Amino acid sequence: MNTEVKLHPSTELLNRFVQGELVTGKSVVVAAHVELCESCSAKAEELQALAVSSWVDPGNVLQPDQSSAADYSSTVARIVTYPQIKSEPIEDLVEVDIDVLNHSIKLPKVLAKAASQGLKWKKVPGGISEAQLFLDNETLCEFIYMAPGCQIPVHTHQGSESTLVLDGSFEDELGEYKTSDFIIRDAQHNHQPLSTEGCLCFAVLDSPLKFTKGLARLMNPVNRYKFKKAISRVA
Ligand SMILES: [Zn+2]
Repeated sequence: MNTEVKLHPSTELLNRFVQGELVTGKSVVVAAHVELCESCSAKAEELQALAVSSWVDPGNVLQPDQSSAADYSSTVARIVTYPQIKSEPIEDLVEVDIDVLNHSIKLPKVLAKAASQGLKWKKVPGGISEAQLFLDNETLCEFIYMAPGCQIPVHTHQGSESTLVLDGSFEDELGEYKTSDFIIRDAQHNHQPLSTEGCLCFAVLDSPLKFTKGLARLMNPVNRYKFKKAISRVA
């Protein structure tokens, strides 16, 4: 359990997660962060309780134009402003050996099962290895390992990329990211991730990567093909 997590999913994303509105890939990356993060775990529990109370009492259904909307906003504001620390421990993490790492790591249960069932790692240029999971027909989900000193070419996204750091760290133009950090990048961001010490992440893309500089741009059709192939694996 990491108590020094800097970057978390937004409250809106957590709320969509507890309401079951996310496709499987996105749900898994959020669930994995929630397992690692005390404050998001507590926040998710409160949002769930709030959702359940509105399901149990249909009269309590929250509409933006009703006075209860104000209660809802204030409750959400309270959850956001005062992250609750849960006293009881959250589910234990699972120790897993990952082929590309020379040490074992502890993973959230939601990822450990898939990771321990034998990931198929593929090396891609630049010291990067990738292992895909096929979780739904809308997202490309993969473990990405960046070897020490490795840099991913400058790219942007047509949709969004949710990344959870599982081991090590990386940085881009906007900051430095460590274990348990949850990062969202979309079309507004042009970024070039670099890892000095090496980094294992789990990333979920809802559209192909688009390299924006130099020869890497030649890879864009491959990125589109890879995305299309990944989403067509799940009926
Ligand atoms: Zn969090």
